Amino acid sequence: MYRIDHWIDGHTVSSKSGRTGNIFDPATGQVQGTVGFADVDEVDQAVANAKAALPAWRSTNLSRRAEIMFNMRELVSAHRNEIAALLTQEHGKVTADALGELARGLENIEYACGIPNLLKGGYSEQASAGVDVYNIRQPLGVVAGITPFNFPSMVPMWMFANAIACGNTFILKPSEKDPSTAMFIAELLKQAGLPDGVFNIVQGDKVAVDRLLSHPDIAAISFVGSTPIARYIYETGTKNGKRVQALGGAKNHMLVLPDADLDMAADALVSAAYGSAGERCMAISVVLAVDTIADELVAKVKSRIPNIVVGNGSDPSSEMGPLITGEHRDKVAGYVAGAAGEGAKVVVDGREGAPSDGFFLKPSLIDHAQPGMKCYDEEIFGPVLTVVRVKSYEQGLQLINDNQFGNGTAIFTRDGGVARQFQFDVNVGMVGINVPIPVPVSYYSFGGWKASLFGDLHMYGPDGIAFYTRSKVVTSRWPDPRTSKVDLGFPQNR
Ligand code: NAD
Repeated sequence: MYRIDHWIDGHTVSSKSGRTGNIFDPATGQVQGTVGFADVDEVDQAVANAKAALPAWRSTNLSRRAEIMFNMRELVSAHRNEIAALLTQEHGKVTADALGELARGLENIEYACGIPNLLKGGYSEQASAGVDVYNIRQPLGVVAGITPFNFPSMVPMWMFANAIACGNTFILKPSEKDPSTAMFIAELLKQAGLPDGVFNIVQGDKVAVDRLLSHPDIAAISFVGSTPIARYIYETGTKNGKRVQALGGAKNHMLVLPDADLDMAADALVSAAYGSAGERCMAISVVLAVDTIADELVAKVKSRIPNIVVGNGSDPSSEMGPLITGEHRDKVAGYVAGAAGEGAKVVVDGREGAPSDGFFLKPSLIDHAQPGMKCYDEEIFGPVLTVVRVKSYEQGLQLINDNQFGNGTAIFTRDGGVARQFQFDVNVGMVGINVPIPVPVSYYSFGGWKASLFGDLHMYGPDGIAFYTRSKVVTSRWPDPRTSKVDLGFPQNR
């Protein structure tokens, strides 16, 4: 048993709230640790420290900020196996997947290494006689990030790398289900040379989140999690005058056209639906199979499922680990249990044969699903792939565009013209063309449409820099006594 607490002003601070949460080992189902939950005073302490660290940090020159990010890149890289082990220990994902998550997170630190270039403004010389106009981007102040359980290293890196590099100080509220990775990252940031107070962690639940949402010294909130909470964060945060980006849930559809390479499509479906036990916001959870190839595609997916090795994430032979909690496992199993009663056909039932220790389910495949069925309408967030048979490209596209979510989607086809039309027509923020999990590289930005994102700016990349800064435009004239005169007219440029 171990205990996890807050990270404030460069060191661990024990929670005194008396409220705690259990940290489970999802592979055994046993409680392995406890996390202290922040009360309002503890959040206030973190914010006060972040506020105190702000003047010196935002004055720190860009080369030094970049150097700290370069140092951090080396440290994360050097400690990747330890971080991956922590991810597996608390989240349950298999080691290869944990290393993959970390590699994608690291991209964001690498992006932030370019901060001197990223913060360059524009300059217009001689906008008027002797007058120059230029814009600069300045940090917002103390900003907060609230993150989900499923990417305990990558999603915080989406946020803090750019936020800090831009000159803000940062408070992270990680998921209470797997809080240790964030603490490890905090230690590494300190080793990288980040001054105390620039990066802080408050552990906890709604109490901590609500205080961040109402605290007058928090300028902006980045959130990633489920749609109901994302909506709440956006509405509450903006009502309190904060800049907010709140990313929500997903129901990502893959449209498979008759001309697609069906083996390639089946491999991609199995990887994207069952990887990380389906607990990815970019997981494919629905396949739209055009009628003429649907039987063949379903057979190909079905034939691959028995080969997936389900087991403890730390076992190198495992390809899919457990779900995050027993409660979540039971919720996911409930969708499989209810599917037949709704008129769908359960082709593979993942409740059968799953390891009995821990929060395991095996992959499930549900065919003949339709809108109106719970297994189609709701985000399941588990290893369940649902097949909807469609008559045409147009019907498939319509289903995607009618869906409440718009995070990711993919089309599998060999027809470039249709793929291009899909990219034009589809109302989804991230699109894969023969790519099942189109998570943008760090120099683009990540974000869905519709109920998958509340706010105007996507996460990381250029949008991340825009989100964590505000622009100031300076109009400047240096005194030239030869041109000085009194003029009460409105300033004009011509
Ligand atoms: P969640 O919404 O339950 O929790 C996310 C964060 O919000 C956590 O830090 C949690 O402590 C906090 N929280 C939970 N309930 C709250 C409440 N009532 N008030 C205030 N704060 C609260 O999400 P989760 O279960 O940790 O993560 C899974 C969800 O996240 C899925 O819906 C998934 O699709 C989504 N997700 C989305 C993306 C994306 O980029 N769009 C990425 C990863 C995960």
